[in-house]
Amino acid sequence: MANPSILILAGDGIGPEVMAEVKKIIAWFGQKRAITFDVAEDLVGGCAYDKFGTPLHDDTMARAQAADCVLLGAVGGPKYDKLDFSVKPERGLLRLRKEMDLYANLRPAQCFDALADFSSLKKDVVAGLDIMIVRELTSGVYFGEPRGIFTEGNERVGINTQRYTESEIARVARSAFELARRRRNKVCSMEKANVMESGILWREVVQEVHDKEYNDVELSHMYADAGAMQLTRWPKQFDVIVTDNLFGDLLSDLAAMLTGSLGMLPSASLGAPMKNGRPKALYEPVHGSAPDIAGQGKANPIACILSFAMALRYSFDMGADATRVEQAVEKVLAQGLRTADLMGPEGGKPVSTGQMGDAIIAALDASL
Ligand code: NAD
Repeated sequence: MANPSILILAGDGIGPEVMAEVKKIIAWFGQKRAITFDVAEDLVGGCAYDKFGTPLHDDTMARAQAADCVLLGAVGGPKYDKLDFSVKPERGLLRLRKEMDLYANLRPAQCFDALADFSSLKKDVVAGLDIMIVRELTSGVYFGEPRGIFTEGNERVGINTQRYTESEIARVARSAFELARRRRNKVCSMEKANVMESGILWREVVQEVHDKEYNDVELSHMYADAGAMQLTRWPKQFDVIVTDNLFGDLLSDLAAMLTGSLGMLPSASLGAPMKNGRPKALYEPVHGSAPDIAGQGKANPIACILSFAMALRYSFDMGADATRVEQAVEKVLAQGLRTADLMGPEGGKPVSTGQMGDAIIAALDASL
């Protein structure tokens, strides 16, 4: 059987720095676990614009479509801020998401015990937290027509349209139920069925998919505003939350920040299964290219490393190895290792990007 393939698009700013640590882990799997990934690398974002005059070359797009998954670092930087909108670095990422039709955005919010003090919430509220927000990513109010700013009488009116088809709701609901089965078997669906027709349809379709295909999974429904309150009151009541594009945008940021630093947050965007049964998939840290610290060895590589762990779990069915990587991260944090972004008010000496990566490799060695 062919080796699993990964296309690495490290991108700009700290992207290549954090990705260098992921490459060490990929090499570790080859050397210590005899699991070889076929890794190819290409350009996305500003660096692709510099070379090709476009943030994503057609050949790169074709390689992304053909790979088992894409691993992305980050794109953008002040050098590209004045570029025309059509060639801005972010357009490369948006093209990838659109053409791969990545409709389910997975944003875990997991609190490592060693970092529980970092949260703005009380330690006992967040310690041990492990929830997953599944946000619909390719439809809803960010895409619905009509949209625009129009003139009505003697004033302007801004219009966006919340629009969901049954099939769009059903496919993201299935993603959430599938995930729940690999976790604690609970899904909470959030919408505003009390005031929005699209919310009524959302609730009905999620319930139908549940009753027909996933009635072994516990399903509940909550209005999204109440969900926001519950997420800050007692987030540990949730396992998987599934919600639309707009509410997911807000709720996933809220949930993620329960756990502390941007440098810790991974994400996955999944689409329909390919011929080999693996979903189309792009894994990336939530953070951007951090131009303020780029090139200084200060970046925290953990978000990118945890994104690779998600690839192991969701693209390659290597759940035990994903857990092995996550536990290695947990171990180095428990040992007190911190990159600069994780330094508390008590201070101390931060480790560099490379030192953090090396410590995680040492923890992986110890796990064998
Ligand atoms: P950012 O996430 O790059 O940085 C915000 C702050 O968090 C900065 O102070 C940065 O130093 C810090 N930070 C981020 N990641 C870190 C890490 N791994 N380790 C330590 N500190 C980290 O967001 P921004 O400053 O708003 O944007 C910078 C550039 O990145 C812009 O060009 C923006 O368009 C782009 N961006 C790209 C993505 C992406 O590629 N998905 C996402 C967001 C922003």
